[in-house]
Amino acid sequence: MVYNRCGNSGLLLPAISLGLWHNFGGVDVFQDGRNVIRHAFDKGITHFDLANNYGPPPGSAEENFGRILKKDFPGYLRDELIISSKAGYLMWPGPYGEWGSRKYLIASCDQSLKRMGLDYVDIFYSHRPDPNTPFEETMMALDTIVKQGKALYVGLSNYDAEQTERAIQILKRLGTPCLIHQPKYSMFVRSVEEPHATTKKTLLDVLQENGVGCIPFSPLAQGMLSDRYLSGIPEGSRASKSWGFLKKNEITKEKLDAINKLNEIAKKRKQSLAQMALSWLLKDKRITTVLIGVSSVEQLDNNLGCLDHLDYSKEELSAIEKILKNAG
Ligand code: NDP
Repeated sequence: MVYNRCGNSGLLLPAISLGLWHNFGGVDVFQDGRNVIRHAFDKGITHFDLANNYGPPPGSAEENFGRILKKDFPGYLRDELIISSKAGYLMWPGPYGEWGSRKYLIASCDQSLKRMGLDYVDIFYSHRPDPNTPFEETMMALDTIVKQGKALYVGLSNYDAEQTERAIQILKRLGTPCLIHQPKYSMFVRSVEEPHATTKKTLLDVLQENGVGCIPFSPLAQGMLSDRYLSGIPEGSRASKSWGFLKKNEITKEKLDAINKLNEIAKKRKQSLAQMALSWLLKDKRITTVLIGVSSVEQLDNNLGCLDHLDYSKEELSAIEKILKNAG
């Protein structure tokens, strides 16, 4: 495994991190998820990413992860793991179960720790910006969680470039610097590269300027940037499941056309398409680690292979850009 420094912090993260959004919930086969986590750790993946609502049902991914930790990771291994959780999306009924209030964030962090059987998480995130709560309140809640010893670092997710800049400044003043940002970023989703309408800065610029790490989520566009859908929608794939967030109608003709063409470039590079999609992100030194999901040990091993070929020629990059322009 390659370990990269997270922004200007003291923390190193593996170039590949594993997320438990899909495939680790109450609806999934526990043993399959357990095998993946054990294998990931054996391969040097030290970072596991969760959130209060991962499942389904919400909370069950944290519960299952807690069971796996108890069964397979003796106490001393806690110091070899970076575990993150988040709060922001709907978790429980009533007015205090979502968004960015101090009430919600602190209660949710306590619930997550209980579900996972942990004393602390390594990183706690505000999962999305709340348009109706002052950023000061949300950031002060993150700061409190760190000062209470319930998290070591804090992060932001789904904040745009301007919101991120504001949040980073508040966190700096509070003495709890923002460690990392978790945006959606892949060959198919590139808003982090686009300048903000008012500040003219991209999210990646803001992160670099402030020494904050970047951990793109859904780097394979939920599986589209792999061989998964090259010949239809296979049984058991995310797009085939009623609870999967990848909807069949997102796999359009334009996307499939692009996927097939990208696959040809990947073959020439002697990589799988998934490996190419991951190395395409990791070639940018501003990217600390890519946050993948997998439904099997085989997929995990395949993805780890991206680390063998991270560099790109100019010709490859421009051929890829040409394909992506028409991907819709
Ligand atoms: P990916 O884009 O990596 O998609 C993962 C899916 O791609 C897998 O479930 C699998 O699909 C397929 N896949 C993976 N590797 C391969 C391979 N080698 N060959 C073929 N298919 C492959 O990431 P996710 O969308 O799962 O997101 C990753 C993590 O990011 C989440 O677990 C979560 O931690 C985080 N996240 C954060 C969000 C936020 O708002 N902060 C939002 C969403 C995700 P299949 O299941 O069909 O086999």
